[in-house]
Amino acid sequence: MELVLATNFDDGLIEKVHDLPVSTFFGGFPVSLTGAGRPPYILPSVSPEKLARHLEVIHRGGRKFFATLNSNDLGLHEYEPGFLGKFREEVQQMVDLGVDGFVVALPLLVEIIRRDHPNVPVSISTFARLRTVNQAEYFRKMGAEHVILEEGNRDFRLVRGLTRAKIPVEVLVNQTCIRDCPFRGHHLNTSSLCSQPGGGKLWFEHPILQCGLEVVKDPSKLISSIWIRPEDLSIYEEAGVHRFKISGRNRSTAWLSKVARIYTERKYEGNLLDILSFVQVKGPSAAIERLGREGPQLGVLPNFEKAFQALDNVSIDNKAFPAGFMRRIAEMDCEHISCSTCGYCASIAERVVRINGEPPSRYHPPQDLPPSYVLLPGFGQAVGEMAERTEAESSPPTHPRAPHPLPVLSPAGGEEEAHGPSPLGRPSFSSGEGSSTDDGAGAV
Ligand code: SF4
Repeated sequence: MELVLATNFDDGLIEKVHDLPVSTFFGGFPVSLTGAGRPPYILPSVSPEKLARHLEVIHRGGRKFFATLNSNDLGLHEYEPGFLGKFREEVQQMVDLGVDGFVVALPLLVEIIRRDHPNVPVSISTFARLRTVNQAEYFRKMGAEHVILEEGNRDFRLVRGLTRAKIPVEVLVNQTCIRDCPFRGHHLNTSSLCSQPGGGKLWFEHPILQCGLEVVKDPSKLISSIWIRPEDLSIYEEAGVHRFKISGRNRSTAWLSKVARIYTERKYEGNLLDILSFVQVKGPSAAIERLGREGPQLGVLPNFEKAFQALDNVSIDNKAFPAGFMRRIAEMDCEHISCSTCGYCASIAERVVRINGEPPSRYHPPQDLPPSYVLLPGFGQAVGEMAERTEAESSPPTHPRAPHPLPVLSPAGGEEEAHGPSPLGRPSFSSGEGSSTDDGAGAV
């Protein structure tokens, strides 16, 4: 077993996991030329000097550090003169700082890095959204070392197909993204664009709210999600996967080291949500609370507040899973059947999920939810300006196709001011204990 662990840039983390099979740490810029997989506002800045010191500590322990350059959308800046040259400079600066490898999603960037630095390994990010062996082979031919799965985690035909094709696979184990998420494409683009210079147009990613509402409406989605229990790593090993990734760049040292230890021990007897990057309730709840404090007085806010409060006290009893849970899923063809027709995960949810101590069958999902897009303008940096707006202006239109007025966004760059200027000259890495939005969704 090999673990790939998020770092919060606390040197103490490296010491705390010194006895665990962590081969590689990963982290990234809050803002960079290409952008990456997390919105900058959840990641405190770290100076290049601090990064260099952190890399020294990592290297002293014989571990590696991969930098995340895993944007899946360059905002068309790649067509601007000089952009590619600046990217190559940025990569060179990171290599000079001691970065050992990169996590990348876009083939263009993979090709450039591999051409300039043929000895520097590149892992293909979950942001590349690999779902077929052929896709992975393209990246391997470009020189990628590993491909990282997240959406396809439980697609064992894919996992086995990749390993049969001798493509080294890494799987991300602790995200709670819903399976076959329809919001994912938009979410990954949002994270990528908002972590580029000038991308500071928002303080909360609306797709997380959309995702959270799916869970609020049907908590069994917590089970059909894409996480992997520590107890089930061996099934992946049987399929030829030995490299497991743990996300949580904005989490505490105590949390990261605890989760790495639990996955090493392959056993956890508590609430499974304790060790997952569970984004669907805490983040939206905090965002709605902030909207209530600082945004316009939207009449619909209490509906959303109530919906998420209902899941405030949700748990997944990891001891209560049947021993064959993941093996059963591994034998299914989940990609080609409907969960509502299958019903297996819902039956497991009834056994292991508790909402205020009750099984999901006793839970009453909200029936009166307005469309979530009415909140979207409030997640922009203009939220303060919006406080002046009237409730009537911001209420959902009665007809779903009726135009809804959007606020004028503040000039781009607000977040870059908060987190330091564009890191082209001096990279500004991110780290530290997190925000109310946890680890976002989609990972590296
Ligand atoms: S198809 Fe069945 S086993 Fe697969 S995720 Fe859906 S409910 Fe679970």
